[in-house]
Amino acid sequence: MSNPILLSTPHMSDRELEFVKQAFDTNWIAPVGPHIDAFEQEFCQVTGAGHAAAVSSGTAAIHLALRLIGVERGDEVFCSTLTFAATANPIVYQGAKPVFIDSDRTSWNMNPDLLREALEQRDRLGKLPKAVVLVHLYGQSADIEPILETCNQYGVPLIEDAAEALGATYKGRSPGTFGKIGIYSFNGNKIITTSGGGMLVSNEPELVAKARFLATQARDPAPHYQHSEIGYNYRLSNVLAGIGRGQLRVLNERVAARRRNFEIYASALGNLPGIEFMPEAEFGCATRWLTCLTIDPEAFGADREQVRLALAAQQIESRPVWKPLHIQPVFAECECFGGAVAEDLFAHGLCLPSGSNLTDEDLDRVIDGIKSVHNQTQKITLLHS
Ligand SMILES: *Cc1c(COP(=O)(O)O)cnc(C)c1O
Repeated sequence: MSNPILLSTPHMSDRELEFVKQAFDTNWIAPVGPHIDAFEQEFCQVTGAGHAAAVSSGTAAIHLALRLIGVERGDEVFCSTLTFAATANPIVYQGAKPVFIDSDRTSWNMNPDLLREALEQRDRLGKLPKAVVLVHLYGQSADIEPILETCNQYGVPLIEDAAEALGATYKGRSPGTFGKIGIYSFNGNKIITTSGGGMLVSNEPELVAKARFLATQARDPAPHYQHSEIGYNYRLSNVLAGIGRGQLRVLNERVAARRRNFEIYASALGNLPGIEFMPEAEFGCATRWLTCLTIDPEAFGADREQVRLALAAQQIESRPVWKPLHIQPVFAECECFGGAVAEDLFAHGLCLPSGSNLTDEDLDRVIDGIKSVHNQTQKITLLHS
């Protein structure tokens, strides 16, 4: 039996343990300490963000962002529909209502024209959303400029969910650093990881200071424990920040390795009938965090699920593209502008094993697995003709 090949696994360098050891040697085993401060500063250097607060997860960072913007019960928040549930869950934590926006085909991210239509419509109704949460999917930036322009026109703050897009660019800059607040994730499956963790960034120092305050139980400055606001326990551990410092130093290598995976898959499979890879939009450089493709069952001879199951039978993990949030049972009551593009990408889209630690043999096994599904269907067609 061959080894399992997983979708995206942690990939440590030889630097992280040294930072972790420093934390042990100095006894900074706490959600406070020098690695946290250094991780935040180094993260700003790498992304060009103004200020950063390290937190326990990307989800926590989104929750803090919504709190900082003042999202409350009864508010609406616009949100990309093609994404992981963690993007929208914190909207509900705040008692607000997500309203979803469909993707475009060039980036698979929020369609700027649809956002404009939605904001125009809500403006006419006199009920603008409290915020827009924009996702940068699978390592590719959304088309930020027109989206930001529309948000600014209507005075609606933009939160960027760049959990999957650390290391990508949009017109030379990091997605996540354009809106009022940006967030990143260091979960175990992301391009770099601290096992679990996240970052909130903003160019407004008061916002980031307030994020740190809320993330550490909202303690007022007083010798005793004094609280005037409800806070959270959302700060990152100093030990994990040490892992993050080591990982940041190899971010560029990790991006290069994932882009290389994509190139190998695309050159081996791109000519098969019915296979199309996720396009790279001209406005930026994607990290190819996950290599995604769509399968047209008519042309290919097998559908996405048949391919996924054939790979699974060979111990190869692949996953359907995110199921859009507007068709998730938990968000069934929520409104969605458009939706057909995201539904189509979900119906036909597959994410291939994409870790920066995959070997050439691993990639060959995945490629052979997909080719053999196609070859089998060809044989069957021949038999019947
Ligand atoms: C992973 C992810 C998150 C959540 O990050 P966690 O650190 O796992 O909480 C949010 N949004 C997107 C798009 C993600 O992929």
